[in-house]
Amino acid sequence: MIKIHQFEAIVVGGGGAGLYAALALSQAKVQTAVLSKLYPTRSHTGAAQGGIGAALANKEEDRPEWHMFDTVKGSDYLADQDAVEILCKEAVTTVYELEHLGLPFNRTQDGRIDQRRFGGHTKEFGKGPVQRACFAADRTGHMILQTLYQQCIKNEVKFFDEFHVVDLIIEEQICRGVIAYSIETGELHIFHAKAVLFATGGSGRMFKITSNAHALTGDGMAIALRNKIPLEDMEFFQFHPTGIYKMGILLTEACRGEGGILRNKNGERFMERYAPNIKDLAPRDIVSRCIYLEVRDGRGIDGKDYVHLDLTHLGKEVIEKKLPDITDFVRTYMGLDPVKDLIPIQPTAHYSMGGIPTNVNAEVVWDEKNSVLKGFYAAGECACVSVHGGNRLGTNSLVDILVFGRRAGLSMAEYCKKTEFSPLPSNPQTKIQAQIEQFKSKSNGEKISTLRQELQETMMDLVGVFRTEAGLKKAQEKVRELKKRFQNISLSDKSQVFNSELLDALELGNLITLSLVTIASALAREESRGAHYREDYPKRNDQNWLKHTLATLSEIGVELKYKNVVIKNFQPQERKY
Ligand SMILES: Cc1cc2nc3c(=O)[nH]c(=O)nc-3n(C[C@H](O)[C@H](O)[C@H](O)COP(=O)(O)OP(=O)(O)OC[C@H]3O[C@@H](n4cnc5c(N)ncnc54)[C@H](O)[C@@H]3O)c2cc1C
Repeated sequence: MIKIHQFEAIVVGGGGAGLYAALALSQAKVQTAVLSKLYPTRSHTGAAQGGIGAALANKEEDRPEWHMFDTVKGSDYLADQDAVEILCKEAVTTVYELEHLGLPFNRTQDGRIDQRRFGGHTKEFGKGPVQRACFAADRTGHMILQTLYQQCIKNEVKFFDEFHVVDLIIEEQICRGVIAYSIETGELHIFHAKAVLFATGGSGRMFKITSNAHALTGDGMAIALRNKIPLEDMEFFQFHPTGIYKMGILLTEACRGEGGILRNKNGERFMERYAPNIKDLAPRDIVSRCIYLEVRDGRGIDGKDYVHLDLTHLGKEVIEKKLPDITDFVRTYMGLDPVKDLIPIQPTAHYSMGGIPTNVNAEVVWDEKNSVLKGFYAAGECACVSVHGGNRLGTNSLVDILVFGRRAGLSMAEYCKKTEFSPLPSNPQTKIQAQIEQFKSKSNGEKISTLRQELQETMMDLVGVFRTEAGLKKAQEKVRELKKRFQNISLSDKSQVFNSELLDALELGNLITLSLVTIASALAREESRGAHYREDYPKRNDQNWLKHTLATLSEIGVELKYKNVVIKNFQPQERKY
């Protein structure tokens, strides 16, 4: 017998977006459960290092309007400006709310929340860098997650930890719940709900070198896609400039915010040539491309594909007090000391700008006209509001997950109060059950790890920082082949209890699906914008491409449609830094 649970609201994901939504729901007295494949405080939000952007003006003059301008310019004008306005205005109230919930921010001398510089954040519409990132050392995300989790427990949110959600239940355009696999017992459970939120995080595990945790396999996005919901702007995937060489482990942008410098093999501060105004603090898409260009022109260190991050001039006290975690990483993983050594870095796959399309109330919208799918919500990295457009600025994801996580909770609460439960269809689990049995029944098939490695290498080499038509077509062919071979995988572990191999299989299926959509969207977009750089179309083309991609997946492959960008005060301009 399959277990059926009933809650008014189901939140899938215990990261910052999910927990803030759950907190808002519980405060509104809506019966809420959070399902998470990880123990909530292990969510990737806990790995966020550098900070959360909000124009508090604690260190110098700052305004939400300047934050809006930077976000839109950073996005290469693809962000929806109505959503950006909400993001930047509510950033301020959200940071104060977090402070009141108990978050231990770093402080200024006079006791206010301390702030530091971050890439692409400027004053007076681009005049020079501004101190806007609020932080708790380089453990900002960890503190956010702990604070919100404690508040959820206090408000009696019910948690189902280590429940891996495998499908949505949607009938007649109304979402009625989810199906989850209990990792502990191997049983499927049905969660019947009035409203479901996906806050399942990113999909960086598509790529070989990534800052993303192992669990970031884009499950929520892939499940939505399988349920005929399009994904928006999936061609835009951000590479963060400073990953530890070969490992991809992130060294926060706060390193450069505190004054760190990138140097090539001649010791030259090469960003001065590319972005004379804000130099090392240019947005990530630009800095990542510059690193690749330095390497291509023979200025990588020792002729290899990396450059140096130099923090040595910051002094021991700043390094150890304001960047303690990354100092530990460098000492532990590289045997180097940032106080006196240069650190080898290369760009690392970091953040998915694309995702499940939503409106500003986190309601999922499924077509070019932004029609709402009743009862289904998305927030955080798995969603696309879109506030990041073609490229996200550092510190803006933590703002996004909290502002729109909270808004999701509030709009779900309102919906739950005026809506009855829609009945469940009979046996909604049949399809996923058959899939799981198929995985378990095969022997001597393909190995999951082999397919995953081939996928990650293909995506890294051909769908990374630089792209071409020929490369994307080659990647498409390869990933289609992997999709076929995936039908033939077999598991060596056939057991019910803690079968992590089965989870790997489900996750690999999701990564393959998302890769196909990413490649098709990138192939179609014949221009360069934000993180999507086509060597064969190096210019931005607003006339043809100032629009969002909507990709759906059917039996015949990926289908693409487009929708308008919301433009308000900031007209597209050339993007110079
Ligand atoms: C190393 C690193 C440093 C970063 N630093 C910063 C920073 O300083 N500032 C900033 O703004 N941004 C930063 N980011 C980005 C930011 O941290 C993330 O985009 C953000 O935390 C995502 O939050 P989320 O709530 O959407 O998802 P996550 O925190 O990733 O949580 C996802 C949740 O979904 C659950 N889940 C996923 N799939 C399933 C499933 N199938 N079933 C059940 N549950 C599921 C997981 O268990 C998890 O609880 C950083 C990212 C990384 C990787």
